[in-house]
Amino acid sequence: MLQFSINKVKYRFYMFSKSPPNRSPGLSFKLINSYLVTGDLRRARQLFDKIPQPDLRSWTLLISAHTQHGFSKEAIKIYSTLKLRNIRPDKLLILSVAKACALASDLVKAREVHEDAARFGFHSDTLLGNALVDMYAKCKNVDGARRVFDDICIKDVVSWTSFCRSYVNCGLPRQGLEAFREMGLNGVRPNSVTVSSVLPACSELKDVNLGRQMHGFVMRNGLESNVFVSSALVNMYASCLRIREAELVFSNMSHLDVVSWNGILTACFLNKELEKGLALFYKMRNEGVKLNTSSWNAVIGGCTQGGRNELALELLGHMQDSGFKPNQITVISVLPACTNLESLKGGKEIHGYVCRNWLIEDLTVTTALIFMYAKCGNLELSQKVFGLMPIKDTVAWNTMIIANSMHGIGEESLLLFREMLDAGVRPNSVTFTGVLSGCSHSCLVDEAFFIFNSMSRDHSVEPDAEHFSCMVNVLSRAGHLEEAYEFILRMPKEPTASAWGALLGACRVYKNVELGRKAASRLFEIEPGNPGNYVLLFNIFVTAKLWGEASETRKMMRDRKITKTPGCSWVQVRNKVYTFVVGDRNNTQNHEIYKFLDEMSEKMRLACYMPNTEFVLQDVNEEEKEEILCNHSEKLAVAFAILNLNGESSIRVFKNLRICGDCHNTIKFIAKVVGLQIIVRDTLRFHHFKDGYCSCRDFW
Ligand code: ZN
Ligand code: ZN
Repeated sequence: MLQFSINKVKYRFYMFSKSPPNRSPGLSFKLINSYLVTGDLRRARQLFDKIPQPDLRSWTLLISAHTQHGFSKEAIKIYSTLKLRNIRPDKLLILSVAKACALASDLVKAREVHEDAARFGFHSDTLLGNALVDMYAKCKNVDGARRVFDDICIKDVVSWTSFCRSYVNCGLPRQGLEAFREMGLNGVRPNSVTVSSVLPACSELKDVNLGRQMHGFVMRNGLESNVFVSSALVNMYASCLRIREAELVFSNMSHLDVVSWNGILTACFLNKELEKGLALFYKMRNEGVKLNTSSWNAVIGGCTQGGRNELALELLGHMQDSGFKPNQITVISVLPACTNLESLKGGKEIHGYVCRNWLIEDLTVTTALIFMYAKCGNLELSQKVFGLMPIKDTVAWNTMIIANSMHGIGEESLLLFREMLDAGVRPNSVTFTGVLSGCSHSCLVDEAFFIFNSMSRDHSVEPDAEHFSCMVNVLSRAGHLEEAYEFILRMPKEPTASAWGALLGACRVYKNVELGRKAASRLFEIEPGNPGNYVLLFNIFVTAKLWGEASETRKMMRDRKITKTPGCSWVQVRNKVYTFVVGDRNNTQNHEIYKFLDEMSEKMRLACYMPNTEFVLQDVNEEEKEEILCNHSEKLAVAFAILNLNGESSIRVFKNLRICGDCHNTIKFIAKVVGLQIIVRDTLRFHHFKDGYCSCRDFW
């Protein structure tokens, strides 16, 4: 029997290949179908081309087969050939090419197909109309979808569902929900596909009440067993930050696939339940859930957002080891980990991956790279990436402006801002914060005022509290302390801590005790728990040799149980991060570090480099003296990095507090003596030390 059937196949195959091109219409269809069943598109096509007049069924079959195998563009081309031959298509043929246009998101061809449908009188047909609505939805054209929908004579549940979905998929959730309501009014009952298509609208609007109503509908109609419906419900509750409800739906699901697992995983991270999310992810792996790229992206993004940066990078490695290829979402999720860790090396590796995998054209990826390089202290590389971007949107420009401001290069921020306007890109609120903060770092007072005044007048951006704070900062840093104070008093909005903080910081630099007292007293009310303000006021008093008030400030801090944030600095040397605290002696090279610093201070003395005597104190207690006179962490980190140079021409040190005046002076000198560029990032900005100067020009 088996032998026979094999022989029969052989025989039939022999017959086909020997037979001349078939003229009988029914047979050409069968012939092509025999190849298409096995997925051999090429041979089916060859055969098709030999048929002088293929029937419509064969055309349809060939088009559908190409679409099904992902060759939608080819399918559309086949349709064009048919039209060139003046063949009149039937309903099913137009249906097949509509699906191809949907897959290719080809709006031009989609319109042509719609026209053809109308011309041949099929536009009111339900089946074809539904496909055309879907086609327009996939091409993100709601107007087209609406036109087709209006023409359909008998609108069934599929028509309505496609119509609702066209709005939701085009980012118009409100209209999608309206269409859904309209559907109910027309007496058409939604099915599971409708519900899972409309639920994302509730997610996007974060409208939990509407979502709950949909949930009620699902329960009343017994749709909860549908995996798409339940997954959409989980996602909806997750987006509305209702983790308990999301979990409840998830735990009642009878059938779980990776999409539903990913839904609950994302829910945990969205709701900042990092540990729970991680536990769930490990459970998925242990229970053999077939993970997909979205699962990895969810967990990696969750880690970076939750501050578990090292783990995010580790998971990226696991992801690749498990045979998954990171995509642009992975890159965007993991880059902030490098940014937060100031890991230039890790960032560069990801940049390399981005280039190798053609992701560089993704605007979000490139912008994230610019920010990463800037925050890791390498502004040159930020500029390089930015310069290579073919298209720059507002976020890209903003990022480059902020990058320059962070590095204290206000002139460049200003230049970029003008270029941005010339390029016809609209600035937004963030743009102005970036430019104004750049102006403050570079003492560009007039420029800042010009831009500030132009905000609502020329760009319809209303200045908010942050912009006002920037202006206080501009005035303060430029030494116009009285003006800054008056500016705060005249502010139409309640002055924020950052406005008063800017003034207080400037009072320290410009030794203004009176305004310092005023600013500090306001700050102690607004943010009584911030140790930085007490320390600044303390330093102002110490500098003015007002020992009594200095001690009082210290006492106030003690009484309010406010502990100073311990200062620490860190530096990356050969893939390892080394952290230092004040007077640190835990490093294995501490002997060399202190020897180096002693030599430096001796050289400084000989060069008559003025030590910062303001910081030599008389009337403070021993503990305070030690803090002020001892070797600060940034000096130790700089010395350590110099002792461990590996051919680099620049070193990058990071500090969790403001750099102090004495260290600033010393590092300027060190940079000159050793002929290196030393970049120190403190809480406010980057300082680029070179040839005895700092990029901040001693304003910080
Ligand atoms: Zn210091
Ligand atoms: Zn500086």
